[in-house]
This record gives sequence, structure tokens and C-alpha cells, in this order.
Amino acid sequence: MAAPEKKLVRSKSGLRMVTVDDDETSPFLLMEPPWVPDNECDCCQSCRGKFDFLRRRKHHCRRCGRCFCDNCCKTKVALPRMCFIDPVRHCATCADTTKKENEFFDKHVKTLVNGGQFMLSGKDQSDIESQFLCKLSSDHRFLNFEAESDKYESIQVSNLESLQIMANSRDDEGNTLATGLALKYKNSNDVMTMVKMVVTTGANKKQAQIWIAAMQKAFKMVYEGRQTLRA
Ligand SMILES: [Zn+2]
Ligand SMILES: [Zn+2]
Repeated sequence: MAAPEKKLVRSKSGLRMVTVDDDETSPFLLMEPPWVPDNECDCCQSCRGKFDFLRRRKHHCRRCGRCFCDNCCKTKVALPRMCFIDPVRHCATCADTTKKENEFFDKHVKTLVNGGQFMLSGKDQSDIESQFLCKLSSDHRFLNFEAESDKYESIQVSNLESLQIMANSRDDEGNTLATGLALKYKNSNDVMTMVKMVVTTGANKKQAQIWIAAMQKAFKMVYEGRQTLRA
């Protein structure tokens, strides 16, 4: 799949590299928040220090849009979910959130793209017996299923409706061990569909469980991103 075409746009927050076609945006995308208007804040929303033009000037956190003094908003962090090219100003709370998310992109998205082995079963696919390698596409928009002979239609990540972890055991430390994942989504014909992805025993078991944990985090982020699009 070719990488989507992108264009450079300037917003008040900085330069952003966005896809030309809206349909090709990442499902992890967050919209830029509206900025709290300058005339509505006379003091920093963190330290409460009064703004004055010379000593304490106003800055906006690019993630939440609230108004802070330089000291409370000076951390610059990469914010790929808003497509900024350079690191942008964050308040302390948002800096924490974004740093955790960037760890997600470094680690868990890699797991998802590398893929996990599952048996698939669904209402219409109950006779599928093959092992599928399930992978997140490199542009993060699709879950693709690869098998030697059988086929299963890709799932568009932005069409995921719910995610349910199937589990029936715990490890020595009491952590739930996933035995599978049930995904509800709208298929390409706009029909609500459910697929169960079952972890198989054997060498690929651990990788499949790690993949499920990463998918759970991914779904949470897609869901959050969707809230900002609707706002
Ligand atoms: Zn402050
Ligand atoms: Zn913030």
C-alpha cells in the first residue's frame, strides 16, 4: 500500500503535516483544541500568577488549549497525534499524557504492526480453521489478516465499535491471561460484524497475548480521538 499523500499546513500552534485526503488520516488523530481566549484569562491556569505584558506572558498548551505562563508551559514534546512537525508546548499534565502516548507509539504500535497469530471465528466464518497473522497496517488504518489459503476481510480501525477481551486464566502474579479478543466493527458494506480472534497454544501464544494488550491500548486511543472529532 502506498503511503498517503501529505501536505504541509500552518496552524496557530505550528506547522503540521497532514494527509491530503481526510479519509486517509490515522485513526489515532486528535483534533487541535480551541484556545482559551486571551481576554478570558488574567492569570496562569496552573500557578495562578497574574499575567503582565512584560514579565509574565501568555502561552497556550497545544494539547488542551488552556492558558499558562512560560514556566508552567515550557516543556516541548513531540505530538504526532496532532501531526505537528516539531515538538510543541505542553502544560505539565498534558506533557505526561503525551509522553506516555509516545511510548505507546514506540513500543505497542510496533507490536501491532509486527502482528500476532490467531484462529478466527465469527458468525459467518465458523468453518475457518486456519491460523491468521493479524497485523496493523503501517499507516495504522487497517487490521489485515494473512493466511496461506483462507481470506478474511480487513477491518478499518476507525470502524471498530467495541473490543472485548476473552480470558479464563491468570498467571502467577495474578494478571489476566487473554485467551482471545472479540472485535465488533462495521464491515465494508456498513454491516455490524463480530469476529473472535482466539489465541492458540504453542510458540506464538505469548506474542498473541502481547498483541492483544497493545490492541486494547490502541482501541482506547482511537476512541478518545473520535471524541475530539465529534466535539
Ligand atoms: Zn504558571
Ligand atoms: Zn495542557
